[in-house]
Amino acid sequence: MVAMLFWFLLFPVVAIALAYRRETLKRSTFILGGVLLAYSFWGCASGLWLLALWVLFLGMCLLNLPGVRRNHISRRLLAVYRTMLPPMSKTEREALEAGTVWWEGELFSGSPDWETLHQMPAPRLSREEQAFLDGPTEVLCKMLDDWQITHELADLPPEVWAYIKQEKFFAMIIPKRYGGLEFSALAQSKVLTKLASRSLVAASTVGVPNSLGPGELLLHYGTEAQKDYYLPRLAAGDEIPCFALTSPRVGSDATAITDTGVVCRGEYEGQEVIGIRLNWDKRYITLAPIATVLGLAFKLYDPEHLMGEQDEYGITAALIPTHLPGITIGRRHFPLNIPFQNGPTQGKDVFVPLDAIIGGSEMAGQGWKMLVEQLSVGRGITLPSNAVGTGKAAVYASGAYARIRRQFGLPVGKFHGVGEVLARMAGRTYIMSAAADVTIGAIDAGEKPSVPSAILKYHNTEMARDIANDAMDVQGGKGIMLGPKNYLGRNYQGIPIAITVEGANILTRGLIIFGQGAIRCHPYVLREMEAAGAEGETGLTLFDEALFGHIGYAVSNASRSLIMALTQARYAVAPTRDETRRYYQHISRYSASFALAADVAMLTLGGALKRKELLSARLGDVLSSIYLASMVLKHHTNQGSPEADLPLVEWACRSLLYDAQEQLHGLLRNFPNRWVGALLRLFIFPRGRTYSSPSDELGLQIVELIMKPSDTRDRLCQGIYKTVEPNNPLGLLQEAMELSESVKPLERKVYDARKAGLFESEDAPSQINEAEQKGILNSDEAQQLRRFDEKVMALIAVDDFASDELSASASQVPLATKKAPAKKRVAKKKVTKKKVAKKVVAKKEP
Ligand SMILES: Cc1cc2nc3c(=O)[nH]c(=O)nc-3n(C[C@H](O)[C@H](O)[C@H](O)COP(=O)(O)OP(=O)(O)OC[C@H]3O[C@@H](n4cnc5c(N)ncnc54)[C@H](O)[C@@H]3O)c2cc1C
Repeated sequence: MVAMLFWFLLFPVVAIALAYRRETLKRSTFILGGVLLAYSFWGCASGLWLLALWVLFLGMCLLNLPGVRRNHISRRLLAVYRTMLPPMSKTEREALEAGTVWWEGELFSGSPDWETLHQMPAPRLSREEQAFLDGPTEVLCKMLDDWQITHELADLPPEVWAYIKQEKFFAMIIPKRYGGLEFSALAQSKVLTKLASRSLVAASTVGVPNSLGPGELLLHYGTEAQKDYYLPRLAAGDEIPCFALTSPRVGSDATAITDTGVVCRGEYEGQEVIGIRLNWDKRYITLAPIATVLGLAFKLYDPEHLMGEQDEYGITAALIPTHLPGITIGRRHFPLNIPFQNGPTQGKDVFVPLDAIIGGSEMAGQGWKMLVEQLSVGRGITLPSNAVGTGKAAVYASGAYARIRRQFGLPVGKFHGVGEVLARMAGRTYIMSAAADVTIGAIDAGEKPSVPSAILKYHNTEMARDIANDAMDVQGGKGIMLGPKNYLGRNYQGIPIAITVEGANILTRGLIIFGQGAIRCHPYVLREMEAAGAEGETGLTLFDEALFGHIGYAVSNASRSLIMALTQARYAVAPTRDETRRYYQHISRYSASFALAADVAMLTLGGALKRKELLSARLGDVLSSIYLASMVLKHHTNQGSPEADLPLVEWACRSLLYDAQEQLHGLLRNFPNRWVGALLRLFIFPRGRTYSSPSDELGLQIVELIMKPSDTRDRLCQGIYKTVEPNNPLGLLQEAMELSESVKPLERKVYDARKAGLFESEDAPSQINEAEQKGILNSDEAQQLRRFDEKVMALIAVDDFASDELSASASQVPLATKKAPAKKRVAKKKVTKKKVAKKVVAKKEP
């Protein structure tokens, strides 16, 4: 009986072990053949049973013969596959081909090779870049007064504009030979993070010219003449760029633009040339109201065949000087009280020569490809870094505020309800900054990771939204009352901007992360699709290799998912042996489960998966969670694995892996074919959902780390503007928090005296006086406590206004009310701004 059981179990165990270890088909056949031989000699099987096993084995041997396999299996499957393949437009193909595959490809494989991640050096700033952060960026932060910018001027003051141009903030991506700063992606990110911690208007203004726009497009696709002309002018701030894609009818579905360019003859600068007659109506364009050069996306037509044989070229990008006749520009939108320059523009029969096309006429029709290629990098830098800046600032402020603000005799952060929120904010900030630093490090190492960029864009902005919400709760009324003393309100208001731009978030989650990732990062799907598109025997050979590779990969993932779920991944390979080991193992487990679920979803739903957005979104969430958890672990290693930060690492990994589990559960629960869903569940959750979210205890440990001065707090909030100066609430909050530590023993004396009934007065200042009079505190101590109390009161104070100060008519820049023709307004506005600036200065002077 025991012998029978042994042989009965041996076959599946060996098969699963071979699949788990990803042994080749040849090797697996050899080993299983050996087991079958042993069974034939020593097992006690009946002749019929043995015959059946040998027939099966023969089938397996035949699979090792490529000719037989190709002609009898792959040829038929290829014919079926070609009918199943969803149609793909040129623009979809260009989006899919954009960028490179990096760590996300490992996660897609179901068996991530941790060494590839660990070998990546930690990203570092150059000395020059660090000096720029400590010098001009620090100075710019000091110059920014967010209330003046967002309420009084509805713009950056003229001296700030001048400083931004003078110090080349707009030229971080432009090479030095053109007069730019030629900074790494990491340096750009750090500059934006610091600015975002001070003013979203400044961060957005600086972010755009360094992100997707004329500068970036020229660098990669421009002709030498275009680069030589525009790049030095952009670097010096003589040209202000913007990039116009969106129009009233066309938002997310950007490839459907209706703006046109028709190739024709016309007059340009006194000469007759072949050029393009453009008509457009764009909106939401950042920097458009003040732009001197407009990067324009339009569809190009050549009905007279003046350029070539084609009638229609498709989406094309060109640089249009904004002074040309027919252009309307200068009016502004008002994005949620974050009044960076943003507005509409229209063009009516604007004529430009052909060399206005970025890259010249041979790049006609390549506009979409250019945009998606550049977006695969830019999407991972600007908005994720801004999100990190706002998140870090919110945590830094909230940790300190929760320490100095007392209710019921205790700092509010000591109440567990508030503590839970603080821990969540800190954990999310850790995830955001880890993801940004490590991914941007990969960009600097030459990757163009389109899927991670989309993950960062979506998750960092969503986490920033949650953090902004949480910060408002921690600070209560202090966060709500707008005015010069408010340091949270504008970030809270402005969050939907980041959610909407560069691929609105719902679409990014539902269509891009998994939709692009499934084909781009899957080790076999793109190869199968390409093979299906190839002609004749070459196509068949390529398809056969990809298909059988795919089958082996799917079988392996099924067995890896099952074994790791059964063993809680205890035996999975991990690159460390410390406290982080288990998180590596769990990521590997969910990577296998994800790869299995993704394959089954693609196999059973085919092209319909694209329309089942919620399934695709959940798969994207699982991929995102394990990607972000990997970034957290790598970031911790990059920082020298500080033990003190382990609570944050644990909180981050636990939350992310718990989310991965729950999203997989949601996927299976909603799987269209319930039987397939149930079968998948057997391989993914054979023991049920066993992973837990972070404990309350862990949250409380984090609160302790961020509610008082600590290395962890400093590391977590590194890179924001926290200089102690009168106009910087972040610096002042930190100062008060540090003081609160040193006055603790003095507060204790006053507290004990109050408890003993020694005071007649109720309020804190009077009690300090009484304590001094009664010798409970000496005069130095009393003075220290008084100073501390004053600082706290100043920090918790909010603004109030006379009624007429708040009415729209009191606003000094009648932004939304007065209409001004665009072109003339640019000139007029400069005068107005100067006047306003003078007024503001005069108002402030005593
Ligand atoms: C402040 C600001 C600055 C901007 N700057 C620029 C700029 O400089 N240049 C420029 O060209 N554009 C710019 N934009 C435009 C921006 O890119 C668009 O707003 C964005 O593409 C979304 O378009 P929309 O606002 O029309 O939303 P819509 O396309 O109308 O979308 C509405 C909602 O539907 C969702 N949705 C749409 N399609 C799908 C789908 N298939 N699946 C799931 N969900 C979907 C979206 O996610 C969104 O939540 C800016 C926008 C703002 C607000």
